[in-house]
Amino acid sequence: MEKGKTILVLGGGIGGIVTATLLQKKLGSEHKISLVEREENYVFSPSFPWLMSGTRRRSDISRPRTKLANLGVEIIKGDIDSVDPEQRLVSVNGQTLSCDYLIIALGAEMAAETIPGLSEAGHTFYTIDGAEELNEARLKFTSGKLVVLVSSVPFKCPAAPVEAALLLENDCRKRNIRDAVQIDIYTPEPGPMSLSGPENSAQLRALVESKNITYHPGCAVTEVDAQNKQITFKNGETASFDLLAYVPPHRVPKALKDSGLVGESGWIPVDKYTMATKFKNVYAIGDVTGIKLSVGKPLPKAGVIAHGQAEVVVHNLIKEITGTGEAKQFEGHGACFIEAGSGKAGMGNGNFYAEPAPQMKMHKPGYLMHLGKVAFEKYWLFKWF
Ligand SMILES: Cc1cc2nc3c(=O)[nH]c(=O)nc-3n(C[C@H](O)[C@H](O)[C@H](O)COP(=O)(O)OP(=O)(O)OC[C@H]3O[C@@H](n4cnc5c(N)ncnc54)[C@H](O)[C@@H]3O)c2cc1C
Repeated sequence: MEKGKTILVLGGGIGGIVTATLLQKKLGSEHKISLVEREENYVFSPSFPWLMSGTRRRSDISRPRTKLANLGVEIIKGDIDSVDPEQRLVSVNGQTLSCDYLIIALGAEMAAETIPGLSEAGHTFYTIDGAEELNEARLKFTSGKLVVLVSSVPFKCPAAPVEAALLLENDCRKRNIRDAVQIDIYTPEPGPMSLSGPENSAQLRALVESKNITYHPGCAVTEVDAQNKQITFKNGETASFDLLAYVPPHRVPKALKDSGLVGESGWIPVDKYTMATKFKNVYAIGDVTGIKLSVGKPLPKAGVIAHGQAEVVVHNLIKEITGTGEAKQFEGHGACFIEAGSGKAGMGNGNFYAEPAPQMKMHKPGYLMHLGKVAFEKYWLFKWF
């Protein structure tokens, strides 16, 4: 066994938490595991659609990272300014950290300001503050046009805008205002969860339309007029709204911009099976990565993917450091609950690495699947916190 290795995990979201916890449990105190994170508390973002529609509070889905610290992981609270992958040096609040192994799990940065007028005009359910604001705004909204807008691709959790529209629709029915509300989804995508294949995507679109929500594909927003409440799209279409719920543009975190890690896609290219970057002993997992699939589209950004990739990186690092176990690969499997309102949820699951195209299966919404999503939230927060 190699002695006294230092492993630095950047980002304490889904990928970083799983990586640091498993490494610490499996390697023990002989090696030093540190995790750098800017936020005090972890928040479970798959529950933001529930927060936005009033069935969760901030405290229900936020946790301090004390369990991780109690296990022996060193938590460095701070803002990462820059990363030098060649030397494996990381600058945090002006201080330089070095390590033997670097695992980057910094997620995707939300960039609403890149669309003029967007943040002034609407509320995003992609941040905890935005989801809380949207919850307040929806309670004041009693009639008019409600728009769910996807600003650009790629965005994390391809099901989330559909979930948001279905939950807001359900909320309007519960508050007896449905007849006074028009609901539309505008998106640059060709269809909802289009990577799951034309049949599955059409099935999901039919579900949305069965609730009298109009789906507008191929609409890429260019600007939003907050004063006149109007959205302009690249294809010349416009849309007016009274309440706007949006998915902001995503980009690689600023700290990585000049690191030499970012590829043509705008994200970190990695070996799709091992998550190794082109730099020795530097790995990247989760939303920060760009993995091109056989169909030319990127692997979706999702917590379940970040989690699976984290387990593979941990497994292979343990093998390298301790000389035990077999090498493991990330095989491209993913699954996602889709909240549909009225106490029901559907699910999409399958293999994104399947050839010649991803093989996904959609499960129709039902009560059991909704209970499954609730149980998963509780289990995840209990297991890791
Ligand atoms: C509304 C919504 C619903 C979703 N639903 C689902 C779902 O049902 N199923 C699913 O699988 N996924 C879902 N996701 C996606 C899932 O949350 C992400 O894909 C997942 O969190 C990615 O994990 P990650 O570790 O790559 O990044 P993150 O979990 O985003 O973690 C990144 C961490 O890095 C930190 N960080 C970033 N930059 C810096 C810096 N400069 N200095 C210090 N710290 C920094 C951040 O604070 C953050 O804690 C959803 C997301 C949203 C927004």
